[in-house]
Amino acid sequence: MSDLGNIARYKQHLDEKKSSVRIDTSFVDMVEDLQIKFKDLLKAVPVVDTHNDLPYLVRLQLHLDLDDEKFDLDSPLIGQTDLLRLKEGGVGLQFFSCWIEPPNPDELYQDFDTANSVVRDTLEQVDIVKRIIRKYPNKMTFVTKADDALKEYLSTGKISIALGVEGLHQVDTSLAVLRQYHELGVRYVTLTHNCDNPFATGCTTVIAGKEDKGLTDYGRRAIKEFNRLGMMVDLSHVSHQTMIDTLDITKAPVIFSHSSAYSVTGHLRNVKDDVLQMVKENGGVVCVTFVPGFVQKPGAKEATIDDCVDHILHIVNLIGWDHVGLGSDFDGMASTGPKGLTDVSKYPDLIVKVWQKTNATENDIKKIMGLNVLRVWEQCELVAESMENEDPVGDTWEGRNWSFPEWCTRCSVLYPGSDKKNAHKHTIYSTQRFNFPNETLP
Ligand SMILES: [Zn+2]
Repeated sequence: MSDLGNIARYKQHLDEKKSSVRIDTSFVDMVEDLQIKFKDLLKAVPVVDTHNDLPYLVRLQLHLDLDDEKFDLDSPLIGQTDLLRLKEGGVGLQFFSCWIEPPNPDELYQDFDTANSVVRDTLEQVDIVKRIIRKYPNKMTFVTKADDALKEYLSTGKISIALGVEGLHQVDTSLAVLRQYHELGVRYVTLTHNCDNPFATGCTTVIAGKEDKGLTDYGRRAIKEFNRLGMMVDLSHVSHQTMIDTLDITKAPVIFSHSSAYSVTGHLRNVKDDVLQMVKENGGVVCVTFVPGFVQKPGAKEATIDDCVDHILHIVNLIGWDHVGLGSDFDGMASTGPKGLTDVSKYPDLIVKVWQKTNATENDIKKIMGLNVLRVWEQCELVAESMENEDPVGDTWEGRNWSFPEWCTRCSVLYPGSDKKNAHKHTIYSTQRFNFPNETLP
């Protein structure tokens, strides 16, 4: 048989094979349809992400030097966040985390009174975010109100940037610092990071086998101050008991800026079902994180975008569409993101997958994209308005040691008896003071 005969017969075989394969296009059509619908929703609601750690990388790698030619958010970066991909992902409101590491290398330390530089360092992070925004005035804008975030997105197309501080260790025991962070535009503070503080117990303490003491008395008073200020309480990183204690007393809805569901991935950084029920009562929102270790299924080799969908759907099935949002922790994870959800451009893929697997209405989808977070933020503002006649919580931490130089003992006594009342937490240290000439005269 000639080669030509072979070729003709092979072609015939291929044609027969082709006609026997039925490609089901309905699935592809459905995904394309949902992608188009998602783009339509973006005209009314942005993607909102409550946790991104890009500012810490600018601190770590550039020592806050924005003049360094390596700093260019307009170009594709190796990391998980840049302006091109934020746009591609439909992001219209991004909370940047102003995280500073705990002040002691031993994260289980309990000495909260040693002087440290955490407040200075946090202020630098607030400052660097504002400087980054200033560098891209046509693409980003700083917001401190929920309504402004949405208005800016709809009217200018810029990405609204808001601030969060990740741990009350960053107020260094003082509610005065919390108030000043609010003045600077910070709109949520996480109650703990991976360490306890005078306000609350962190989940890592419990993971280390230590007692879950929940909120302290000072922590309870702090929650009142959060409510009075309109500062959102963030319960990511805290212990189970701290979550319960806070949800018991807060007047405003809470957020979890980057936590997933414990029932899907049994890590104590995630939220257990009993707490999810309390979040429903409270009107709060759990913003699902994409950190692989917190979303990966037991025994699986890697985390995938479908794992994140499962976390979202677990929360939806348990407490409804009103209480779930997105809190990636992009550029804050020590690994790459889950497969298929590797950077800020991928939110549309996640949302479309959620849509595909449910009979969600357009409004349900808008809620998880961003409306839930905007609603909670606005409600915190309303609670603050209702408390505007209340005085600031003037308490200071009872464990604080007040330390003064010896020469202060010569100050006039305006408040007789205060020295005895405060003696137990009052230290006088001697100084080698420079003597001015007139003091040496007889
Ligand atoms: Zn974190």
